[in-house]
Amino acid sequence: MAADPALKPNSLRREGDGLLIEWNDGVRTFITWRDLRKNCPCATCQETHGKPENPFKILSPQELAVGAPEPRSIQTRGSYAYQVYWNDGHDTGIYSLEYLREISKPAEQAGH
Ligand SMILES: [Zn+2]
Repeated sequence: MAADPALKPNSLRREGDGLLIEWNDGVRTFITWRDLRKNCPCATCQETHGKPENPFKILSPQELAVGAPEPRSIQTRGSYAYQVYWNDGHDTGIYSLEYLREISKPAEQAGH
């Protein structure tokens, strides 16, 4: 399925505990950092999602750290994707615009 190549964000900004995106078709969507992190599209995370939870999994200090996942920075990758650098050191997830649109929710529903 081809994405509409014209669909892109007019602006991305931090709002509360997540990201508010204003798209050029007038739609505003919101996604919390936690959901954004959970939906990381990189191969490592996708592989983890497909497996049952390991009962012997050891929580890393980052996972036990107080506070929710938050990006240290978000950088553009070409003109169609964003790479997110998380505060837990994870930075291999590259979110295409199409994917971001898919996983974020209409801002009004999310209370923004
Ligand atoms: Zn990942």
